[in-house]
Amino acid sequence: MKLFRELFEGTDNRCPQCGMKNCPHPLGKCKCKPLPGYPKKVDEDLSPEQKRVGQLGPYEKVGPKGAVGKLVGGESFINTSIQAVAENKSAILRGILKEGSSLPGAMGGIKIMTPAEFVANQGDGEPGEEVDEATKLPASTRELKGQELTDYLDRIRGSADISKKTGQVKVDKKGKEKYVSGKTKQDKFRMPYIHRASVMGFYSPDGKKYNIDALKAAMTQRPTKLLKQNEKMKHSNGELEQFFNIGFAALVGSAVDENTNEIIIVNTCPGAGSCKIDCFAMKGGKIQYEGPWLSDSRILTYLLNDPEGFKAQINDEIKQEALEGKEGNYGVSIRWHDAGDFFSPEYLDLAFSIARDNPTVKFYAYTKVAAAVLGTKPANFMINWSEGASTGQEKQIKAQDPNLDTTKNSRIVPEKLFYDLLKKDAKGNLDKEGTNAKGAGGRWVTRDAAATSELKQRLAKAYGLSVNSILNYDEYMAKRNSIPKGMKYNVIVAPGEGDISANDAGVLSTLLLKH
Ligand code: SF4
Repeated sequence: MKLFRELFEGTDNRCPQCGMKNCPHPLGKCKCKPLPGYPKKVDEDLSPEQKRVGQLGPYEKVGPKGAVGKLVGGESFINTSIQAVAENKSAILRGILKEGSSLPGAMGGIKIMTPAEFVANQGDGEPGEEVDEATKLPASTRELKGQELTDYLDRIRGSADISKKTGQVKVDKKGKEKYVSGKTKQDKFRMPYIHRASVMGFYSPDGKKYNIDALKAAMTQRPTKLLKQNEKMKHSNGELEQFFNIGFAALVGSAVDENTNEIIIVNTCPGAGSCKIDCFAMKGGKIQYEGPWLSDSRILTYLLNDPEGFKAQINDEIKQEALEGKEGNYGVSIRWHDAGDFFSPEYLDLAFSIARDNPTVKFYAYTKVAAAVLGTKPANFMINWSEGASTGQEKQIKAQDPNLDTTKNSRIVPEKLFYDLLKKDAKGNLDKEGTNAKGAGGRWVTRDAAATSELKQRLAKAYGLSVNSILNYDEYMAKRNSIPKGMKYNVIVAPGEGDISANDAGVLSTLLLKH
């Protein structure tokens, strides 16, 4: 399928800003040094509406008064359609169709849709290619093998970054050879993340082929530990609580189907909608280091092929932690999914059964899968319906609770609602509270009491909440043990603060300030 970019630039797929074929940046956000003749001007013959679309980055929004919402030249899991998203659909259509016949590249396969339609089109099975359910624990998967696998590994490996001046491969400060990634923007949403260092490790010394058997052997190793330990939280009354995570790759994971001995791509977040665009678990440490992808892959492989073994092992780990908690006089909380989601009903059942096996431990999850919210759950498993799900999942929740008056939920508060109210230093940088000697860590705080009050007013208006029901984190921590039964608060949580409200039945909405 041809990229939407081709409509404007022909088929060589160069970045219009820097002119490189493998520019790693989204359209409109290029940071590379431009080649001679770039940035390229948008064809002046196009209508203004077409130009707007051509200038947009793949996931950029245009303000409420602008016509265009988003341009997505991308694919999501299994789905390879190209989508242009516009708030004023007919205007864009008119613009494109007017000039369509004279534009380079193909028109076929391009859908014009409103932002709401775009979100609706994401997730919920993502039709278009064969989906298997062959593993012992069912999931939506497809095989990744043969040429497709080799091509993907080639794209991850990329090509040497040759200096135009010297003709030699460029090297970084540490003397390592630089490379240009061959990965496409679509790879992020439809292919599982594999760190380049691992790919190089499985590339044969003669440079001709990959050792796929060694790759599979690495992926099928059983993890020694499934629970990942988080920070210990201190409550206002001095109580301690130890947090743990369990999870795997967000959106698209890799695993081995041990029946067929083939690598499979797993749809780990079937309810994901707009969240996938900005998913915290698809960046940062998860992709910076070599370890996480392989660890995630081993967990998924174990879970899918041997759910009983997985359950026995995690139960052992939880029981051990619960015992240590009892002896050390602290509570144990487990966040199900630091990344990923309940990818099948059978998997949801398995997670709930583990909670039932450990009644003294508190479990909680954020989810974009409506069934996890609407079904019966164990008393010690708190589910937070989370913003950013596909429209299909949203509809199921809204049918029961249109204004989220009773469904425990979490919302991502956009910067425009709070950033100007945060405490800053003389240079205008965030003045965080509790940073270490190197200035790292700490939490975001508001400027003063008036700013906190203003923030509450804004949140109340934006989300239809009563101002009095909104607490900041400190207020919540002070009150949390005395919230009368039946009363629900909404809690503002800033980066650097804890996750306790997500695990508290007395909190309706956790209002997460966007990081
Ligand atoms: S459901 Fe969660 S983990 Fe999955 S893509 Fe969305 S934000 Fe990321």
